[in-house]
Amino acid sequence: MLQIEGVTKRYGDRTAVDDVSFTVGGGRLTGFVGGNGAGKTTTMRIILGVLGADAGEVRLDGSPLGVDGRRRFGYMPEERGLYPKMRVHEQLVYLARLRGMRAGEAAERADELIDRLELTERRNDPIEKLSLGNQQRAQIAAALVHDPEVLVLDEPFSGLDPMAVETVLGVLSEFAARGAPVLFSSHQLDVVERLCDDIVVIGGGRILAAGSREELRERNAGSRWELTVD
Ligand code: ATP
Repeated sequence: MLQIEGVTKRYGDRTAVDDVSFTVGGGRLTGFVGGNGAGKTTTMRIILGVLGADAGEVRLDGSPLGVDGRRRFGYMPEERGLYPKMRVHEQLVYLARLRGMRAGEAAERADELIDRLELTERRNDPIEKLSLGNQQRAQIAAALVHDPEVLVLDEPFSGLDPMAVETVLGVLSEFAARGAPVLFSSHQLDVVERLCDDIVVIGGGRILAAGSREELRERNAGSRWELTVD
């Protein structure tokens, strides 16, 4: 279980994230939804420890994240960060090794994800030669390749065609089914409502609603969603 408790981040006199608390349960796909500038990326970067918070704490299974915290996460950043000249398999193995996985295991895991994400025919292509949709699949494989304990993904479904959405959803659901927490952001409420078990809504840096999909649907029947998301 991933717990975010009272996280606040200020830039000068602007508060980007204001006393944000929520929980991402193990085995649950949790959608983090909000409009542009709502505070999703800032919150996710704090969860991962790449950005310091002014207040608050992030805990994984009850303990604060230590210096090795980054390895425990699989992360897909908003600014996609693969090396354009590296080939898909080579890139995945490189990242898995960097995060401490043994060579043989890394090569196997990379192939498994390449097949699962339907990149088999692109295995030895340089990243820069892939279509944007395939680059996104490679990025999702990159988040998963070192067998992390938790997944945090910034807009993993944006720009994917419907078949790719199903493929990616299958991969994320399988990962969650092992009991791992999965958090992903989206600015599309309809996507999140369709794909997630739990939903956290953020707006203006504050949590506006959080709960299971069914709970929120009942509580927000009517037009309030429109207001909260953008
Ligand atoms: P988007 O979907 O557009 O990426 P978001 O929900 O991820 O939006 P954030 O990127 O977390 O939102 O931004 C939250 C707020 O913090 C915005 O008002 C943004 O302008 C501000 N902000 C983010 N990073 C910085 C920064 N480095 N310096 C100043 N303000 C920032």
